[in-house]
Amino acid sequence: MAYDDQNIFAKILRGEASAFKVYEDEFSLAFMDVMPQVDGHTLVIPKDATESLHQADPGILARTIVNVQKVADAVKEAFDSPGIMIAQLNGQAAGQTVFHLHFHVLPRKDGLDASMHAREMADFAVLEDHAARIRAVI
Ligand code: AMP
Repeated sequence: MAYDDQNIFAKILRGEASAFKVYEDEFSLAFMDVMPQVDGHTLVIPKDATESLHQADPGILARTIVNVQKVADAVKEAFDSPGIMIAQLNGQAAGQTVFHLHFHVLPRKDGLDASMHAREMADFAVLEDHAARIRAVI
């Protein structure tokens, strides 16, 4: 499948759609998931037009995973989370719904269940507050 530049993350990268951004550099962007599975659910994407892991340029992938680590460290601190889960889905059969490569960063702790993936839109004021908490420690 060819990369579709009308996907929502491509629009966020072009500034055509808004996002609750937490980190950005030359290679990647991180922002809050609008339908979070847990508080603090953050996405890290390369700026490169890449559909999934399978098409990723290894150099871009390396830069992206370094930023996944940076964001995961900040999310862990901001949400005082003993565990961080990284999820990354490739292809519709695996549950991928946005066809621009992305890494989910999910704070986890005992007794805290994650809700279903990409179901319920969060309150935007809460998302901005969460983004600010992460930006403060990144
Ligand atoms: P996946 O199903 O792995 O492709 O994940 C896509 C994620 O993008 C889901 O968790 C959605 O909640 C999230 N999502 C969809 N649209 C937006 C958006 N406009 N801003 C932030 N996250 C989004």
